[in-house]
Amino acid sequence: MSARDVIVVGAGPAGAASAILLAERGWSVTLLDKAAFPRPKICGEYLSPESARILDRLGVLKAIDEAGAQPLRGMKIVAPDGTVIMGSYPTTGPWPSHRDHALAIVRERLDQILVDRARSLPVDVRERHRVTGLLREGSNVKGVQAQDAEGRALELRARLVIGADGRASAVAAALGLLRPHRLRRMALIQHVAGLDGFDERGEIFVDPPDYAILNPVAPGLVNLGLVVPLAHARPFAGRLETFFHARLRQLPRLSARLEGMKPVGALQAMGPLAYRVKEPRAGGVMLAGDATGFYDPFTGEGIFTALRSAELLAEVAHAAIERGTLEASALRPYAEARREHFRGKARLTRALQFVIARRRLANAAAHALLRRPALLDLLMGVLGDFVPPAALFSKGFR
Ligand SMILES: Cc1cc2nc3c(=O)[nH]c(=O)nc-3n(C[C@H](O)[C@H](O)[C@H](O)COP(=O)(O)OP(=O)(O)OC[C@H]3O[C@@H](n4cnc5c(N)ncnc54)[C@H](O)[C@@H]3O)c2cc1C
Repeated sequence: MSARDVIVVGAGPAGAASAILLAERGWSVTLLDKAAFPRPKICGEYLSPESARILDRLGVLKAIDEAGAQPLRGMKIVAPDGTVIMGSYPTTGPWPSHRDHALAIVRERLDQILVDRARSLPVDVRERHRVTGLLREGSNVKGVQAQDAEGRALELRARLVIGADGRASAVAAALGLLRPHRLRRMALIQHVAGLDGFDERGEIFVDPPDYAILNPVAPGLVNLGLVVPLAHARPFAGRLETFFHARLRQLPRLSARLEGMKPVGALQAMGPLAYRVKEPRAGGVMLAGDATGFYDPFTGEGIFTALRSAELLAEVAHAAIERGTLEASALRPYAEARREHFRGKARLTRALQFVIARRRLANAAAHALLRRPALLDLLMGVLGDFVPPAALFSKGFR
C-alpha cells in the first residue's frame, strides 16, 4: 500500500479545493504544481455568487474579502445595437444564493489564498514540481512521474491521482483523453486603469463576432477581456498587442467606454479556448476543473465549475478510498454527478454562444429580455450558478 493516499496535480482552484476537502477528511495528500505561487493565470477574474458558498466551506471567503475582492451585484450588457440591459442577481425567489453578489479578484491573490489554506492543513504542498507522466499497474494509475525544482526526476506513488492541472493537462494527455473542439476562439486579457463608473457591475459588450467583458477587480483596476475568432488573430502572431488595440477601436460602443484607459502589466492571450476531454477509463485517477474540458468564458463559470467539481470529486473519492476500491467502476459516480450538475448550464452556454455570434439574434434577445424582467432575473440567477437552468428553460428560454 502507498504511504500517501492522494496526489493532486495542479494547485489552481480545482486542485487546491480537492486537496483541502480530502485532507479535511483525514487523507494524506500531496499537492504538486509546476509553478511557484503567486503565478499568473489568464482569466476574467469573475466569481459567480454561488462560488462564495464553496469558498466559505473551504475556509477562505473571509481572506478573499479581506484581500480586496470587489462585489458585483449584476452585469450591464450592451447589445450590438446599443440596447443596454441592467441585470441584477435576484435576491428573492425560491433559490436563495449564498450571497447577493458576485466577486472579482485578481487570480494571483485568489489562487495564493487557496494554496495557503491547503498548506495550513496537513497537505504536502510542493511548488515547482512538474508532472511528466503517470505510473501504472495494469489498468490502474498508481502514481506520477515528476521533475522537482532542481530538474531531478521523481516517482511518487499514491492510491489516487487527481489531475487538476488545467488546460493541456499532463494527466489527461498521458491517458490519451484530450480532444480539439470545433469552436475556435481566442481571448486577449489586459488589466487597465483609468476607468470608473462601474457601480458594482461588470460590463459585457456583445459585438459579433467579438465580445468583451470588463470586471472591476480592485480599486482602480479593471480586467478587460476581448474574445475574437482565432482566425482573425492568427495573422497577427507576434504582434498581438497591435491587433488587440486595433480591434478595440473597431468596436464603437466599447471603444467609447474605454476612453482614458491605461494598460497595467502585460497583455495575456490564449487560443483556441475550447477543447474536450474524454472521461478516464483507468482506475486510480480522476480529473477536475479545466482538466475535464473547457468551452468559453462568456458565462464566467470556470472557477465555480472547478470548485464544484472538487466538491463532487471529494465525495466519491472519500467513499472509494474508505472502501479500499479505486477501480474505474468505483469512481464512475463522479462522472455521473458531474454530468448531472453541469449539463443544464452547458446547454445554456451553448445556446448563448449561438445568440451572441449573430448580430440580429443578439439584438432580438436583448429586446426580449428588456420586455421580460422576470426572465432576465432568472437568467442572472442561472449565470450566478444558484438558479437551476431548468427553471429558465421552463420559462421559455430556448
Ligand atoms: C480567457 C479566459 C477567461 C476566463 N474568465 C473566467 C472568469 O471570469 N471567471 C471564471 O470563473 N472562469 C474564467 N475562466 C476559466 C477559469 O480560468 C478556469 O476555468 C479555472 O482557472 C480552472 O481552474 P483549474 O484549477 O481547473 O485550472 P488552473 O487554474 O489552470 O490550474 C491548473 C494548475 O495546474 C498547474 N499545472 C499544469 N500542468 C502541470 C503539470 N504538468 N505538473 C504540475 N502542475 C501543473 C498549473 O501551474 C496551474 O497552477 C477563464 C478562462 C479563460 C481562458
